[in-house]
Amino acid sequence: MKSPTQTNAIDFDSAKLQRLGFGQQSPLLHRPISLAQLRQQLALQLQTSLEPQRILGLFFREIQRLVPLDALHYQHQANDLRLEFGERGHHSVSYSLSHEGEHLGELVFRRNQRFSEQELGNLESLLSSLLFPIRNALLYRAATRSALRDPLTDTGNRIAMDQTLQREIDMAHRHLQPLSLLMLDIDHFKSINDNHGHSAGDEVLKAVAASIKGQLRNVDMVFRYGGEEFLILLSNTNREAAAMVGERLRHATQAQDYWADDTPVELTVSLGCSTLLPAESVESLLRRADSALYVAKREGRNRLAMAG
Ligand code: GH3
Ligand code: MG
Ligand code: MG
Repeated sequence: MKSPTQTNAIDFDSAKLQRLGFGQQSPLLHRPISLAQLRQQLALQLQTSLEPQRILGLFFREIQRLVPLDALHYQHQANDLRLEFGERGHHSVSYSLSHEGEHLGELVFRRNQRFSEQELGNLESLLSSLLFPIRNALLYRAATRSALRDPLTDTGNRIAMDQTLQREIDMAHRHLQPLSLLMLDIDHFKSINDNHGHSAGDEVLKAVAASIKGQLRNVDMVFRYGGEEFLILLSNTNREAAAMVGERLRHATQAQDYWADDTPVELTVSLGCSTLLPAESVESLLRRADSALYVAKREGRNRLAMAG
């Protein structure tokens, strides 16, 4: 007779937090704690994650055992990171974090009651436990982000595109939300390379990518699909709205000034648009955008074609 197999799994993250006394929060929140104790606990606890969201969330929750707050706001512009916890408050105190000349972001603590001198002293002391965890998280984020970006145009690369497309399409199907794709290809790009050289072509390519991103709300949804071809993923966007975005991109890229060896370069783009059908796969949606782009090229370029 076969005995049933038993599988034991340990979630080290929660196990460690449990041991450190952070498992169930409510009774502990009311237990008095000294600054030194809290600092020691935070030092251990904050190194259990590399996600800025989680690190700051834990920090926000735990420091309230000593300094009650209404909100915490964190921002790191260069890393394109903005995080908010809690509600707004009338009084605020902000800190710019840095370590050995390296900028680690800005933190704003808010609450409706004024901060006392002692509380400010405590906050400043507690901030030091954030330094290394947040620095490691920023480094990790930069590393993972660069693995998913195209270095020339600073758009998502193919790996990012595959991951994002699959995720967004699954979500659109699950929530019955519309989703559209725009495939954009620069017209006669080869002649720019031929006339001005490859590196001038590179500069033009960068400028086109910047122009596309400048027109969109969510720049994380622009991907370099191929050499001079970009894919724009429009979540929660139906066919009509996607057509409007497509036209806007076509006009914006055409209106921009491009230069190659101090000579102005005229440039247009063609676009193909497809909108997700019920139960449609990633491959099929991409194929339909590509076919539409082919139609736009065949019909004379500098235009948008909609997939049937
Ligand atoms: P069409 O209007 O039919 O799209 O014409 P096209 O010339 O744009 O298209 P084609 O596919 O014939 O040529 C694309 C060119 O893009 C050829 C290739 O050398 C160039 N290209 C691809 N990637 C890069 C790049 O990273 N930098 C530069 N400078 N050129 C690139
Ligand atoms: Mg082209
Ligand atoms: Mg092409």
